[in-house]
Amino acid sequence: SSLLEVRNLHKSYGSGSQAVDVLKGIDLTIEAGDTVALVGPSGAGKSTLLHMLGTIDRPTKGEVLFDGQNIFTLAEQSLASFRNRSIGFVFQFHHLLPEFTAMENVMMPLLIGGTRRSVAEVPARRLLDDVGLSHRITHRPGELSGGEQQRVAIARALVREPRLLLADEPTGNLDMKTSDEIHLLLDTIQRSTGISLVIVTHNEKLAAGMGRTIRIVDGRIV
Ligand code: ADP
Ligand code: ADP
Repeated sequence: SSLLEVRNLHKSYGSGSQAVDVLKGIDLTIEAGDTVALVGPSGAGKSTLLHMLGTIDRPTKGEVLFDGQNIFTLAEQSLASFRNRSIGFVFQFHHLLPEFTAMENVMMPLLIGGTRRSVAEVPARRLLDDVGLSHRITHRPGELSGGEQQRVAIARALVREPRLLLADEPTGNLDMKTSDEIHLLLDTIQRSTGISLVIVTHNEKLAAGMGRTIRIVDGRIV
């Protein structure tokens, strides 16, 4: 089966006469190893859809099958453990912990999961090398450029070897040159690992070079 199958997904915020329908019936299939760019105007529902794919928000109606499993039937705790195992997130703002080094930030998801520090250091070091930051492992986020901070966030998102990487405007806060570099890095990682990548972006030209483009307008795929 496909990695992800989204069926008739709806999301509304509020209720009764105050209800706002943000997603109005999304159908989407993503195979393992696919790259999908979500594009469209601001407010169209791209982030909302990404949050549903990432199980950090629940739909009002419809279902998301991950490896054939209807994930929103899981109780909250099982859903959280599924999410931690299977999905990596990169956001516009990196959410790195300022008191910790690049290395510690990348190790953090493993340490929280109970992995010993000496064990967690191995993949963290390798991933920091993969994102081009082997010379920055003892730096804290405040000592890194915006692009470097986002590279740390990407390494952290990958440290638990997720099947799916979700990126919500990962370059929205970066200058054009740095933005191109981060897109290229995500593309390289996707190709070398075979991870599935769903990226919300305004850079449609770069997105088109990475894979399939899906346009969302007013809560629907067009
Ligand atoms: P996009 O990512 O395409 O810019 P979003 O998914 O962020 O769009 O938002 C789509 C719409 O949903 C917007 O009108 C936004 O104001 C609304 N929205 C998003 N999150 C919430 C929320 N938690 N409560 C109410 N409305 C929300
Ligand atoms: P925006 O997309 O509007 O910039 P954020 O990226 O800050 O907003 O966060 C979007 C949503 O993702 C919020 O609901 C936030 O609580 C959640 N979130 C942020 N960081 C993480 C994380 N590391 N893991 C899970 N959920 C997160």
